[in-house]
Amino acid sequence: MPLAISKSKYVTGLQCLKLLWTQYNDREAIPPPDAATQAKFDTGHEVGDLAKDLFPGGIEIAWSDDPKGRMEQTAAETTELLKQRVPLYEASFLIDGCYCRADLLVPAAGDAWDLYEVKSTTSVKDVNLHDVAFQAWAIERCGVRLDRLYLVHLDNTYVRQGQIDVHRLFHAEDVTGRARELMPEVPRNVKSMLAAIAGDQPSTPIGEHCSDPYDCDLWAACSSFLPTANVLGLYRMRKRDAFAMINDGVMSVVDVPSASLNAKQRVQQEAIRTGATHIQAQEIHAWLAGLEYPLHCFDFETMMPAIPLFDGTRPYQQIPFQFSLHIVDGPDAEPRHVEFLAENAADPRPDLVEALNAIGPEGAIMAYNMGFEQARLRELAADFPAHAEFLLGLVGRFQDLIVPFRNFWWHDARQLGSCSLKYVLPALTGTTYEGMEIAEGGQAAREFMRVVFGNADAAEKARVLAALRTYCAQDTLALVQVLRTLKDAS
Ligand code: SF4
Repeated sequence: MPLAISKSKYVTGLQCLKLLWTQYNDREAIPPPDAATQAKFDTGHEVGDLAKDLFPGGIEIAWSDDPKGRMEQTAAETTELLKQRVPLYEASFLIDGCYCRADLLVPAAGDAWDLYEVKSTTSVKDVNLHDVAFQAWAIERCGVRLDRLYLVHLDNTYVRQGQIDVHRLFHAEDVTGRARELMPEVPRNVKSMLAAIAGDQPSTPIGEHCSDPYDCDLWAACSSFLPTANVLGLYRMRKRDAFAMINDGVMSVVDVPSASLNAKQRVQQEAIRTGATHIQAQEIHAWLAGLEYPLHCFDFETMMPAIPLFDGTRPYQQIPFQFSLHIVDGPDAEPRHVEFLAENAADPRPDLVEALNAIGPEGAIMAYNMGFEQARLRELAADFPAHAEFLLGLVGRFQDLIVPFRNFWWHDARQLGSCSLKYVLPALTGTTYEGMEIAEGGQAAREFMRVVFGNADAAEKARVLAALRTYCAQDTLALVQVLRTLKDAS
């Protein structure tokens, strides 16, 4: 099989030649996709398949099972099918070290064709324009005349009612001008990419490109020389400035001149230097004293289906399917637990809204990063206007448990400069999610969708629903633990 740059490899090469080189020369060094990445791939395939309905009656150029010569084979098949002047799915072109499979190629006026690249995102990004430019350049080099170039993405203003209407679900943005501007760069870029692949491993240093436009799979390996408490973890430090420090040889937070740090960063540096937890007891005490009992420690779990599952919902709308609530009636009271978890494929929101009545009429509602829970309640109020007054009343009662940590009234070196609960909880209480069957929100959403909307058997579904209950309960019990520990420290 000849060496050829595909459209995804072209985008990789623009991000980092070292990553591109590794993909061709040291494939084993790249970790296999984790469950979250695999779910993104699956969503991309699902969206791509649905987009074919925009141009029905076309012919698919199947990816041959025989690895030998399949690029040549699919390209030859495409050459023949182009004569039929019908929509082609995955039309394939092989030329000058480039191989591309176009999502949709549709007959236009005369002998021309329109190119449609499908993405499961909700807007056009710069990286997509390079992708389209690469394809258009390769296709035209093969002697096929292209008229318009489109980027097809999901329209997040589309609201499902009944069957999915693909013509409203998708938005085809004409990117002809912007993509054609990039096309002259393509042959130069391809040449340097092919040369890089054929050479020794490039010694590209880490930098902002490691997460732009995508998080690089080699980050752990490339950044392994950094100490744990490194300057990339300095609180609210701009990445550009942190990488500049690394380039200057300043790797560790403790090596940064303290005069160049702000007050919170100095607290962080001191905590790392001494190993002692920074506690401002007075401020914590005053804040805790302002919380009105009963305290309702609350957390939603949500899913974000790319293709709306229910009437009245939009692509990627956050749909709450579970909540956990630990109610603490007084300073020394044991928490009471209330929960809701949808168990079937119906829209979970009507029953969930009813279940929210477990939150009594008085007392603060505690969440960590409360903006997320408040936003979901506002969306529920908009979608279920009969309950709007109740739901919006809840929004106004929230108190954010992140406040003592964002203000650095409590700070521990083990937070690594982060105020997220994932770092705060183990540092504050020793509690972790390690070993739990479901251990984070993205996994909770994926597992819920898999067993409730997929074809899991009853035993598997029961097992996963039990794990979801355990996970979500742990989330709000963690808030109770954080409150207790703060109380004890103040
Ligand atoms: S981590 Fe950064 S430097 Fe290393 S391969 Fe990835 S993008 Fe390139």
